[in-house]
Amino acid sequence: MSGGRVGDDTAAADSIVIVTWPAPSRRCDVLVVGGGPGGLIAARELMARDRGLSVMLLERDRAIGAPVRCGEGVGSGGLSEFIDPAEAPWVSRKITKVIFRAPDGTEVRVAEGDVGYVLERTRFEPALATEAGRAGAEILLGTEATGLRRDGDGWLVAVRGAGREYVVRTRLVIAADGVDGMVARWAGLDTRVPSRDMESCAQYLMTNVNVDQDAICLHFGDNVAPGGYAWVFPKGGDAANIGLGVVALRAGGRNARQWLEAYARTYFPTGIRVSCTVGGVIVHPTIKRTVTDGLITVGDAAHMINPLSGGGIVNAMKAGRLAAEVGAAALAAGDTSATRLSRYHREWMEMLGDDHIHFHKLKDALSKFDDAFFDNLARTVNKIDYEKRTLRRIFGSALMHHPTLLPVVAKYFV
Ligand SMILES: Cc1cc2nc3c(=O)[nH]c(=O)nc-3n(C[C@H](O)[C@H](O)[C@H](O)COP(=O)(O)OP(=O)(O)OC[C@H]3O[C@@H](n4cnc5c(N)ncnc54)[C@H](O)[C@@H]3O)c2cc1C
Repeated sequence: MSGGRVGDDTAAADSIVIVTWPAPSRRCDVLVVGGGPGGLIAARELMARDRGLSVMLLERDRAIGAPVRCGEGVGSGGLSEFIDPAEAPWVSRKITKVIFRAPDGTEVRVAEGDVGYVLERTRFEPALATEAGRAGAEILLGTEATGLRRDGDGWLVAVRGAGREYVVRTRLVIAADGVDGMVARWAGLDTRVPSRDMESCAQYLMTNVNVDQDAICLHFGDNVAPGGYAWVFPKGGDAANIGLGVVALRAGGRNARQWLEAYARTYFPTGIRVSCTVGGVIVHPTIKRTVTDGLITVGDAAHMINPLSGGGIVNAMKAGRLAAEVGAAALAAGDTSATRLSRYHREWMEMLGDDHIHFHKLKDALSKFDDAFFDNLARTVNKIDYEKRTLRRIFGSALMHHPTLLPVVAKYFV
């Protein structure tokens, strides 16, 4: 048995693999592919809606929540919709301040109060998995989907794990397989990303660093992280996640790891590198079609990351919950057609997807300004009373100096 999409005329010719599939050895109502925040919330919420469903979740890695490829920062409001962060062992730090640092080093402190949290994802996702498992979902580790094929009104999914290959027959697939996910593509959805919308990221967990443990810091500038930004997210004690994202086309031939190393040497010379991770972040609006017959795409796999901030954890969870709601109702009605599931796409676009289209345009507009623009902006914003510094006012200042931003910003920030 081999992977990829199998013999369907809607698939790209080069992805068709003709093989003979063995009969399914497992059956379930919903197969969730991917044990990140999106897939785990989908599994938990499916079971919460209908305890009679059989839900299997496949995770390719051998552990839920590891390896961590993430700055681990989340907003309070979004997170609390799903799980209570008070006293939670998976919180590294509660964050009460945001600091923007301009290319020339000018700092802008934004008064925010209850901003968010820096998570410990090696404990956060296991906590979500525990809830999904307790609710009745079956979680399989070290197990991956390697291909799928339409079978009546459901899917046959080729699975490899625990030293064997087998086929699962499912009524609904939830593709929550992350930034390099293939499941939606195998099902015929277009998940390609223009290279200018793919940020390469690198991050060190560093100790022996002296940072404000109540603040997250975002540092902009072509000499720091061209096309993206550097972040410093505290992890408690003398530790912090220190990382950055760059757009390869603007990165002058250096990769994200090289930019990070230069950043760490300059700004954290005493820092001790405890771990290193690299990964991609898609800063592109949601794919045009997130559903097809019997399949819903969730989270990074559907490009649901905020294109301005690069944050995707809570978005994936929101999408997972919506997929569960729409999917459970479709299963109950015995109709998992694309037409029925299209409610998911529509509601996602209303919830966040349409905003992301505008954030993407705004990011594009901002990328045309040079470092001097951001230095000036920082100084102007610092003239606004600390208590009154909101995003709306910051963009208001930007507009006063650069009216060319007006068409994209006006609708959202002024
Ligand atoms: C360096 C970096 C820093 C980031 N920092 C932040 C941040 O601070 N805050 C924030 O909100 N977001 C951040 N993000 C983005 C965030 O990590 C993602 O948006 C979020 O994890 C998306 O969740 P998901 O469930 O869609 O996908 P993922 O968390 O990627 O989960 C997908 C899972 O699917 C599994 N999988 C893939 N293929 C298969 C298969 N065929 N079969 C079975 N399993 C499979 C993968 O192993 C993975 O565990 C960052 C990303 C990077 C790379």
